[in-house]
Amino acid sequence: MLDDGTGHHAWPYTSVPVSIVGWAVKNRATLQWTDSSVDVYAGVLDGSGAPRCAPGCGRFFHQNGDWSKCPGGAARHYDQSLWLTEGFQGGAGGDCGQRVGQEYFTGALGQKDMHIHPHEVGHTFGLDDFYDWTPPGQCCFLMNAGGATHITEFDTWMLRDFWRRLKNRYGY
Ligand SMILES: [Zn+2]
Repeated sequence: MLDDGTGHHAWPYTSVPVSIVGWAVKNRATLQWTDSSVDVYAGVLDGSGAPRCAPGCGRFFHQNGDWSKCPGGAARHYDQSLWLTEGFQGGAGGDCGQRVGQEYFTGALGQKDMHIHPHEVGHTFGLDDFYDWTPPGQCCFLMNAGGATHITEFDTWMLRDFWRRLKNRYGY
């Protein structure tokens, strides 16, 4: 059984709530609903022509937490994004969020172990790939792409180690 790491080196959270605060599309008609309980950004495109939420609301663009340029203010800011791209193979993850294939993601919604996306979330939380080596005694873990289809005990220890090394930046 995996423990949630609460209290490990003063890890301050008992849970990490996830809220969806915005949808970004090229055309509003792509979203087949009309309610506006979650912000919809239609036609806001980045330099490559991909839809995105308001940059003023994004943590990647405002790492100091200044949400004064976010139309909905602090409550509507986002810390990471999930970018679904038609025909995209594999995945990518980083400090701004994750990018995976739209067909893969929507096709795997019912799966217990949708492993590509959680692997990319691992990158968002600072974990590395293991393309050229595996740690002694380990073979099968999520961040070793293809090595596991779910978060393993070893993945959680990597995150604990990451926190152990960075906690002093946050006053712990
Ligand atoms: Zn990776």
